[in-house]
Amino acid sequence: MDFKDLDLNELADRVLAGGELERAEALAILNCPDHRLPELLAATLKVREAAFGRRVKICILRNAQSGICPEDCGYCSQSRVSRADIPVYKMQSVAELHEGARRAVASGARRYCMVGSMRGPTERDIAHLEEACRRIRADYPELEICLSMGLMERDQAERLKAAGAGWINHNLNTSRRFYPEICSTHTWDDRLRTIENVRAAGLSVCSGGIIGMGETDEDVVDLAFATRRIAADSVPVNFLHPIPGTPLEHAPRLTPERCLKAACLFRLLNPRSEVRAAGGRELNLGARQGEIFNAVNSIFVNGYLTTGGWAYAETRELIERAGFEVEPPAAA
Ligand code: SF4
Repeated sequence: MDFKDLDLNELADRVLAGGELERAEALAILNCPDHRLPELLAATLKVREAAFGRRVKICILRNAQSGICPEDCGYCSQSRVSRADIPVYKMQSVAELHEGARRAVASGARRYCMVGSMRGPTERDIAHLEEACRRIRADYPELEICLSMGLMERDQAERLKAAGAGWINHNLNTSRRFYPEICSTHTWDDRLRTIENVRAAGLSVCSGGIIGMGETDEDVVDLAFATRRIAADSVPVNFLHPIPGTPLEHAPRLTPERCLKAACLFRLLNPRSEVRAAGGRELNLGARQGEIFNAVNSIFVNGYLTTGGWAYAETRELIERAGFEVEPPAAA
């Protein structure tokens, strides 16, 4: 199917009515000619607005444990095969994680995402994170708490939920087919099992992926359909930021247009989920960053785990200049 064969109005209406996108349509969306991108963005905006109006949620990441992961994900600066020059430290104290929450609220965030470089949490990590979640929940009752701590068992997720966490992030990252190309120490199905455990524990699932790791269009489409199948509550869409010292340091740069088309695809397949522009937004979208709000309703500020990013003030200006509005921050 060619993009010119798509009826974008019919497609948006079908998605809004709960209908499926066909695989051939998804591929055509990824292959939208650049000069027709404004039409694709307009159709996607219709779907985005139905669930989220013009609101944009601000999220802030906290690297709770940096640079000591035994896994070998090729895109990641914190893996055991990475030679990237990044901070290395063990799990931050409860006081530090709590201070991060205070700063997140002060910086306009509604969601605070604590991330640990690890294969999965130990008993000691879970007890520590329970304590951190309890204290943060007590002082910032409106702040949405998300944790990203690798592979997780159901009982671990249940304990974190009871302590006040609302979301667990665990990205599928790419297609099942392409996964062995980016990681050899765990499988796509290991990741899927963690997502099932998180869901069974009653937590919301945050799971998306990374565009630009050498995958094909078919892989992107597989990943996008997978996020729909697992009914991810949040879908972060990362755009590879090739970090010197990682196996993917020389990956070809994405174009802003490719990023926008991928974001539209994830939105059209996940009409009611939070779709978030995540890592690599500033680097890859450049002057076209504002257009991504036609597809996404959420964004990170103050950078990513080991790469920098825009602060709140300039991000807010970007959002408003694009005709959208920032969701009010969590109350202190
Ligand atoms: S499991 Fe997470 S922290 Fe570890 S190498 Fe992979 S992406 Fe990086």
